[in-house]
Amino acid sequence: MNILVINCGSSSLKFQLINSVSEETIAKGICERIGIDGSQLVYQAVGKDKITNVVKMDDHLKAVKLVLNALTDPVNGVLSSFSEIGAVGHRLVHGGEKFHSSVLITDEVIKATEECNDLAPLHNPANLIGVQACRELMPGTPMVGVFDTAFHQTMPEEAYLYGIPYEYYEKYKVRRYGFHGTSHNYVSQHAALLYQAKIDAARSLEDLKIIVCHLGNGASVTAVKNGKSIDTSMGLTPLEGLIMGTRSGDIDPAIIEFLALKEGMSIQEVTAMLNKKSGVVGLQNGGSSDFRDITADYLAGKAEAVRAMKAYVYRIAKYIGAYTAAMNGVDIICFTAGIGENNNVVRTMVCEYLGYLGIEIDESANEIKGEEVVFSKANSKVAVMSVPTDEELMIARDTKGIVS
Ligand code: AMP
Repeated sequence: MNILVINCGSSSLKFQLINSVSEETIAKGICERIGIDGSQLVYQAVGKDKITNVVKMDDHLKAVKLVLNALTDPVNGVLSSFSEIGAVGHRLVHGGEKFHSSVLITDEVIKATEECNDLAPLHNPANLIGVQACRELMPGTPMVGVFDTAFHQTMPEEAYLYGIPYEYYEKYKVRRYGFHGTSHNYVSQHAALLYQAKIDAARSLEDLKIIVCHLGNGASVTAVKNGKSIDTSMGLTPLEGLIMGTRSGDIDPAIIEFLALKEGMSIQEVTAMLNKKSGVVGLQNGGSSDFRDITADYLAGKAEAVRAMKAYVYRIAKYIGAYTAAMNGVDIICFTAGIGENNNVVRTMVCEYLGYLGIEIDESANEIKGEEVVFSKANSKVAVMSVPTDEELMIARDTKGIVS
């Protein structure tokens, strides 16, 4: 079966067509600047050249139409008709407490997801526009919703409650939800398989303690015990936790009022600053958020980058310590996403904090980038590895599981 995976943002739509049997990608691309001047569709059938088509896209319905036309184009397409798409898997960001796993999309599911819009106002409405557009154009095709928050619904109460009056949880469901769940789920499964293949064939996901560090532009750490998320660093929103590209991660909440008064900013302005001007960009006083730049500057000894890099790495090491305590031990520490898969300087710096766990790193294995690799030494007490994440494949697998 061919599964179309859709990840819809407010002005973009990423898509990937995956063969659910071979799990190979057949074609992929992105519609950018939907509803904005200069919109374009970038499309690539695997093994062929990338095609960029500058075309007006007033809304997501037009974008989905263009994607379907590209997939069925007589010259560059990969399908002879839409009917060859067996199902569509949609990335949905926030499912609140309602969704513990992926679901077949029905009118009730759409309504329940809309009720979570307050918790993800930038993401959920855009995701649902993508769902509606696909339903309109492919009314007979089953659609599945895969929520970023679902994997973390196994967290116990002590991990998801904040130390604020309980009535706010009761009234508004203010609690930790966590994000990147599709990635943490995929990567923890693959980390366990790699552990079985390379380290101990007798142990599987169900009896391993894994810490997954998803280090991309957004970043989060999750403690996965026996295959279940028991704690994660992002919270009610994706602002909490690690220092990120432009997001602050954890801060003393009193800083918000302090800066609002000192700088004459509104709460909304402080929140925007914490989301868009903080993290490693803020720590460099406005430098790059791309870790290729930061790492080059760090290695050249540039003070701003050294400051940002040290604070970034320190926060990751602190979370690893906390989650080792939460699970009463750790078997695997696994790095993923753009930085986790490719940046061996960050990986080395994090591991320098972990000698107390009996971790020993093989520096030449740590040079390997963008591939599955165990880079701890054979005698290391904890396995340290990198596993490339693949959220689209995870969405396709869940979609296949539900529609069949
Ligand atoms: P993501 O959000 O997962 O795409 O990650 C973005 C971050 O990953 C950026 O800071 C990039 O510097 C880093 N990154 C992505 N690809 C590479 C690569 N091939 N080599 C080094 N860093 C990379």
